[in-house]
Amino acid sequence: MAILKVSRLGNPVLRKATEAIPKEAITSPEIQRLIADMVDTMREYEGVGIAAPQVHVSRQLAVIEVNEPPGRGEKRIPLTVLINPRITASAKQLAEDWEGCLSVNDLRGKVPRTQWVDVEAFNQKGERVKFHAEGFFARVIQHECDHLAGKVFLDRMPNLLTLSHLQELARYGCE
Ligand code: ZN
Repeated sequence: MAILKVSRLGNPVLRKATEAIPKEAITSPEIQRLIADMVDTMREYEGVGIAAPQVHVSRQLAVIEVNEPPGRGEKRIPLTVLINPRITASAKQLAEDWEGCLSVNDLRGKVPRTQWVDVEAFNQKGERVKFHAEGFFARVIQHECDHLAGKVFLDRMPNLLTLSHLQELARYGCE
């Protein structure tokens, strides 16, 4: 297992649509090692999720884990591995909240996201999974699925007025 180097905004790998991983390749040592390394990397840098392009791999793979939810009755999210994920349905209603990204380090901005999503994907065992996610979990899934399509959260901001350095947010508040 290893902590991988995180790609940062400006690296073309973050702007490319990623390739699907064939079902039969999911249990290969190469993909299993990549998953383990991405989990290590996410935990090392205290991210709530990381997508493969963020470790310079242009494949449809993301990992999510939230041990300390950002409040407002949100639950912790156990480790979730999403391979070739698809959002099959989503809420009409959008909610705005703060997001950051390991590839856009030190910045936060308010991003509108749909409040719930239905997701289909393969898990790390190569099994087909379908589930419903709400609130912060739904937000993180949308953020990571965007990475797999070559998008970052800045692309989803209607304007950049809330874009802030973390330290300044702490000084001047979040609203
Ligand atoms: Zn990100």
